[in-house]
Amino acid sequence: MLSTTELTDLDREHLWHPYTSFTNPSPVFPVRRAQGVHIELSDGKKLIDGMSSWWSVLHGYNNPVINKAITDQLHQFAHVMFAGFTHEPAAQLAKTLVDITPAGLNKVFFSDSGSVAVEVALKMAIQYWYSQGETQRTTFLALRRGYHGDTFGAMGVCDPHSGMHHLFHQSLSRHLFADEPECKFGEPFDERSFSNFSHLLQRNRQKIAAVILEPIVQGAGGMHFYSPIFLQRVRELCNKMNVLLIADEIATGFGRTGKLFACEHANISPDIMCLGKALTGGYLTLAATLCNDTVSDGICRGKNSIFMHGPTFMANPLACAAANASIDLLLKNDWQKKVSNIEQQLKKELEDCRTMPAVADVRVLGAIGVVELKEAANLAELQPKFVELGIWIRPFGKLIYLMPPFIINETELRVLTTGIKTVVRSLA
Ligand code: PMP
Repeated sequence: MLSTTELTDLDREHLWHPYTSFTNPSPVFPVRRAQGVHIELSDGKKLIDGMSSWWSVLHGYNNPVINKAITDQLHQFAHVMFAGFTHEPAAQLAKTLVDITPAGLNKVFFSDSGSVAVEVALKMAIQYWYSQGETQRTTFLALRRGYHGDTFGAMGVCDPHSGMHHLFHQSLSRHLFADEPECKFGEPFDERSFSNFSHLLQRNRQKIAAVILEPIVQGAGGMHFYSPIFLQRVRELCNKMNVLLIADEIATGFGRTGKLFACEHANISPDIMCLGKALTGGYLTLAATLCNDTVSDGICRGKNSIFMHGPTFMANPLACAAANASIDLLLKNDWQKKVSNIEQQLKKELEDCRTMPAVADVRVLGAIGVVELKEAANLAELQPKFVELGIWIRPFGKLIYLMPPFIINETELRVLTTGIKTVVRSLA
């Protein structure tokens, strides 16, 4: 076993972390174990998790039910190729996803990660139109401030300027970007906020394969919550213009926004939906792209009836078993009450931040609490302060935010909100 120093030395020498530099790395904290909402560092310090490991851990760490589901499956088989074989964990999961997602999404394509689920969705849309003989339909209409992943197709539909991929801009396919939805969640809808989107879609309808967006919450692009009426207008116009709608629910799926899927805030069903992150309760990497019968029939009855994608680890049985157990836990354990309690507490306790000099805005939706600063946060400075306070919060840009596991209790959540207040107050 490595000593802590050996571990951090090896890490420093060889390991790349997300969005970091080797020459000027931000600190990393060695983790020894994690249990419930606690992440324990190698020096024994326990941190209360405010991040759910990037929106994924719903039921806490080391959950006995998910552990058992994975080990039971492990004793049967860890993996088989999905070409020519099928298995119960995948079939069960597909049935559950079809049952719980908005009406009409009947077909499920499993892949490895959120970004790949987005690639699959984009390919489905292009291949759908190809099969109808509309081979010119290869452009996507996305939203400014949107984020859909780090692979090339996904990068191509992320905001080209403010997004984190602008450096690759010249190498990406050119798509269309409508103004971000400025109408906020919970505020009266202003029809003018839809005019740019409406104009772009009507003008370019012949070449657009699909609209792609994050429903209700634009996450990595700034944690903005927008009006469900905007989403309804998008669905209506896509129907009218005969353009497909892709909802990227990778961050919002499985209850995080207070609805099981964020599309439910607007009572709409997309033609294609991407799921990932919380799908396995944060245990293993798995994603799914669902589509309705129009899309699947369109692809498969067309000129090229085979859908051209097939990852090696497609429908990995361990990951599917984890997902089945996680969704079961979610549905059985009154997730709505839990998320609503978290939402009420976040609203009440983060409100104090609003009057702090460093703060531009405070907003809460479901189990997401955001404190937006006036200036970008200094990660290298703030992260150790949070760790010192026994909490795991990782700011990005101007945002300090919380998205705790749903099992967090009132006292633990108060430690997180108090920690944020202490640190944000010190910024003044
Ligand atoms: N879409 C959205 C909305 C996301 O938030 C993310 C990840 N932050 C992705 C896609 C990409 O998922 P992954 O990191 O699993 O590739």
